[in-house]
Amino acid sequence: MKKLIWLLLPLALIVGYVTREKAVVPISQVVSMGTSTTALPTQTQTPVSLSIFPSSIQQGEPAEIVINNIDATDIKSLTFNGKSVGVFMYNSKPTGFIGIDLKMAPGTYPLILTLTDGKTAKKDLIVRKRAIAEAPLGIPDKLGGNTSASEAALVATLARENAILAAVPTASTMLWSGPFVLPLHTAIVVTDPYGYTRLTGLSTISHKGTDFRAAEGTPVYAMNAGTVKVAETFVEYGNTVVIDHGLGLQTLYMHLSKIEVSVGETVEKGQEIGKSGQTGYAEAPHLHISVKIGGISIDPEKFLELFR
Ligand SMILES: [Zn+2]
Repeated sequence: MKKLIWLLLPLALIVGYVTREKAVVPISQVVSMGTSTTALPTQTQTPVSLSIFPSSIQQGEPAEIVINNIDATDIKSLTFNGKSVGVFMYNSKPTGFIGIDLKMAPGTYPLILTLTDGKTAKKDLIVRKRAIAEAPLGIPDKLGGNTSASEAALVATLARENAILAAVPTASTMLWSGPFVLPLHTAIVVTDPYGYTRLTGLSTISHKGTDFRAAEGTPVYAMNAGTVKVAETFVEYGNTVVIDHGLGLQTLYMHLSKIEVSVGETVEKGQEIGKSGQTGYAEAPHLHISVKIGGISIDPEKFLELFR
């Protein structure tokens, strides 16, 4: 289970593919959606193939790629749209997660698996357009209120804080295990979903996370095991914890009233890492969660669905 491969080797030449078939997926305990595969001939009787879950993916969503009929040691690289995808063993199969950026143009993008013997398998992933809702969102008095000056400051500060968070490194090994879990033990109510556009004055700000209802001081738990890479106070994101789970997977917890972990600390799945609050750009207590795959913030609710 722990054996994994993380490869950054450049894409090999594609030698073409010949068959298209429907495959039965033997990991239905992980995901329930259907699949189809495009496979290449190999020396084995059952061709190597790639399965994509869920079967339909839109802007801002994650996808799980399962590699069928091959040992992990025979995999040289997996790429999506030319970018390396970390491969790990999950439910006894080589698996990778990819994130579709909220702004990635709808269309067809290639997944290419390269084996150590030079053979390749290719599958196209179709990114569908997401319907983006818009809603106005004011600036709280503590951040200057609804003035053009505080709006400019908000946008500039967000850009600075996003740059800091984008630079958080990820481990080259898998630090998590099993399904990711919810960060709250209270009743789950989503107060603001991922993906909509907030109209703040003349600026538009994409909400790249999920807001959960959480009274001030509600315990917040690590969604899986990993290493704390950020535990600090930002102007807009408030008290923030970032946990790196390795292979490009990171979870972010924002607007906390209290941080209970330190940078460099190893945390277990379900460990309490802080208390919810309304620090930073927040108009009421809640817990904002972001999930990043390869630096791309995807819909946390859709990510959790991959483990159902
Ligand atoms: Zn939020």
